[in-house]
Amino acid sequence: MSELLLRVGHLYPELMNVYGDRGNIICLVGRCRRRGIAVEVDNLTEDRELLPGFHDLLFMGGGQDREQKRVADDLQGSKAEALRRAVEDDTVVLAICGAYQLMGHYYRPAEGPDLPGAGVFDLVTVHKGAHVPRCIGNVVARWRDGLLVGFENHGGRTYLGAVSPLARVIIGHGNNSEDGTEGALYRRAFGTYLHGSLLPKNPAFADHLIALAVSHRYGPVALSPLDDSLEQRAHAAAIRRATTWPARLRRLRQRLRRNSSPGARTVRA
Ligand code: GLN
Repeated sequence: MSELLLRVGHLYPELMNVYGDRGNIICLVGRCRRRGIAVEVDNLTEDRELLPGFHDLLFMGGGQDREQKRVADDLQGSKAEALRRAVEDDTVVLAICGAYQLMGHYYRPAEGPDLPGAGVFDLVTVHKGAHVPRCIGNVVARWRDGLLVGFENHGGRTYLGAVSPLARVIIGHGNNSEDGTEGALYRRAFGTYLHGSLLPKNPAFADHLIALAVSHRYGPVALSPLDDSLEQRAHAAAIRRATTWPARLRRLRQRLRRNSSPGARTVRA
C-alpha cells in the first residue's frame, strides 16, 4: 500500500482545539503511516481559501463561543459554499462539538446574536444560557454494530431536522439530552459531540474515516489490519469509567438538577 497519499485539511487549528481534539489529526496520521499511506496535513487558518475536492478529509475541532464567532464570520460566503461542495463531492468531514454546531444552519450562543453555520447538516443548535447546566461527562453511544466512547462538554443543544444521527446515546447527553441522538451524518460528513480525543479510543471509527478518505482519491480500498490492543484497552477503560457507580450517581444528580432548573424546555429545529 505504499505510494498512497492522503490530503487532510485541518480547519482553524489555532482557534478550534479543545479537550484534545488535535489528537484526532495525530491519530489519523499515525494509523495511515503504520500502513505506509503518506499523509499531508494542511493547516487551513482564517486567511486560507478552501478548494473543494483538493482535500480527502477535512477536520475541525471544538471551541468556545468566542472562537466560534470568529470561525462563523470567516466561514460566511465562499468558504461555507466550498465546504458544502466538498461534502457533495464526498470529501470526508469530521466536525467535533463547536465545529459540528457550525456545520448546521445556526448556533445560538449563550449571549449575542445567532452564529450562521455552513449549512452542511439540516440542524440547529441552541445554548440554553449560563443558568442551565452544561452537558458534561463521559459518553457511550451505539454506532452501527459497535460503540463510540468519548467525553462531552457543551452548553448548546442540537436538534436534528432531516438528517440522520451518527449514533444513539447509551450513556451521556448527546445532541440535546432529550431524544437520545448523538451527532449527525450526511454523505461522508460526520458531526459529533465526542471529544477526548475521539479517534484514538475508537479505532474502528478512525479506520472507517480513513477508508472513505482514501477511496475518495483512489476508489475502494481494503485497509490492512493494525495491532489495536492498546486502543481496545483504552476503549474498554472508557466504557468502564462511564458505567461506574460514582459516574451513574453523578449523572442521576445532574438529571435531577437539570429537570428542576427553570427554562429546561425543548426548542424544535
Ligand atoms: N461553545 C459550544 C458550547 O458550549 C461548543 C463547546 C465545545 O466545542 N466543547 O456548546
